[in-house]
Amino acid sequence: MKALLVCEYREGTLLDASYELVAFADRIGADKVLAVVGSEGALPRFTGPVYLADAEKYGEYNPDLHKKLVLAAVEKENPDCIVFLHSSYGWDLAPRVAAALKAAQVSEVVAVDGRNYEVTCCNGKMRRTITSTTARTVVTVQAGAFTALPAEGTPQVTRLDLVDIASPVEFLGYEAAEAKGVDLAKAEVIVSAGRGVGKKENVPVIAALARALGGELGASRPVVDAGWVEHSHQVGTTGQTVSPKLYVACGISGAIQHVAGMKKSDFVVAINKDRDAPIGEVADVLIVADALQFVPALTAKLQ
Ligand SMILES: Cc1cc2nc3c(=O)[nH]c(=O)nc-3n(C[C@H](O)[C@H](O)[C@H](O)COP(=O)(O)OP(=O)(O)OC[C@H]3O[C@@H](n4cnc5c(N)ncnc54)[C@H](O)[C@@H]3O)c2cc1C
Repeated sequence: MKALLVCEYREGTLLDASYELVAFADRIGADKVLAVVGSEGALPRFTGPVYLADAEKYGEYNPDLHKKLVLAAVEKENPDCIVFLHSSYGWDLAPRVAAALKAAQVSEVVAVDGRNYEVTCCNGKMRRTITSTTARTVVTVQAGAFTALPAEGTPQVTRLDLVDIASPVEFLGYEAAEAKGVDLAKAEVIVSAGRGVGKKENVPVIAALARALGGELGASRPVVDAGWVEHSHQVGTTGQTVSPKLYVACGISGAIQHVAGMKKSDFVVAINKDRDAPIGEVADVLIVADALQFVPALTAKLQ
C-alpha cells in the first residue's frame, strides 16, 4: 500500500496540519510519498521522498496546474491512495484529481481501517463506513481526526515540472477577511455554549461565567447557526482554532469538528448532562450536571 500525501502551503509556510496526512498514512500502514507546491526553503520535516513543485511558478493554488502536478506525481509513484486535507484546497482539488483518475473519492474521513473509511454524516451526529472498490482512492481527511506526531527528518526531493503551464487561472494571493467580533485565539479562558443550553435566552448564563473567569464566550456551530451567538465566537473547523489555558464546554457533545478547534487547550472542563458524551474523552474534568443549574451556581461562587 502506498499513499501520496498532498501537503498545503499558506503564504510560503507549510501548514502544520499536513503532518496529519502522515499520521493517516501511518494508520493504514502505507509507504508515504509527499507532493508539495512550495519552496526549497520550507520543505516538510520528513524522511522519505517528496515531490516539489515551485510555488513561485505554479502559484500557491491553481486548480489546473496543481491537478496536473498531482497527476504527474501519481504517474511516477502509482499510489493506492491520494490524500488531501479536508480544507478549501482539498475540497477543490481532490474531486478534480479523482475524476481524472476515475477513482473513488471519500470526503471528510475521520477514521480508517484498510480500505474502509469512516466519515461523518447527519451533521456530525453519526458516522458511516465507506469501502472503496476502485484500484485507487482519493481521500480528504478531517482536521484533527489523525493526531500528528512530532515531525523530523530531511526529505529526498524530486523536482516536479510541467511542460505546458498555460492556464486560464491565475493565483493572485489571499485577501484577509474583515476582522470583526472577538479574537478567541488570544483568549486565556474560553467558556463555550453548546446546543445543550437550550435557547438564546440562556446564553447570558454562560457569558456570565466567562466574564467571572475573565474570559471570552465561545460557541459550538449549532448555537451560531441558530443565531444565538455571532459567528466570530464559533470554535471548530469552520470557526476559530483556540488554545486557551482553560476551556469550559457547556452543553457541548464533543463532535470532531468542535474538538478539532479546542483540543490544544491546556485544561478542559466539560459540563454535560450525559456522562457518556464524547467531550468526556478530551475533558480533564467532566461535570455531569444540568449546565443551566450548575453554571449559575459556579458563577455566583466565583463572584
Ligand atoms: C463540515 C462541518 C463543519 C462543522 N464545523 C463545526 C465547527 O466549526 N464547530 C462546531 O462546534 N461544530 C461544527 N460542526 C457541527 C458538528 O458536527 C456538531 O454538530 C456540533 O459541534 C454539535 O454541537 P453541540 O455539541 O453544541 O450540539 P449537540 O451535538 O446537539 O450536543 C448537545 C450536548 O448538550 C448536552 N446537553 C443537553 N442539555 C444539557 C443541559 N441542560 N446541560 C448540560 N448538557 C446538556 C447533550 O447531552 C449533548 O451532549 C460542523 C459540521 C460539519 C458537517
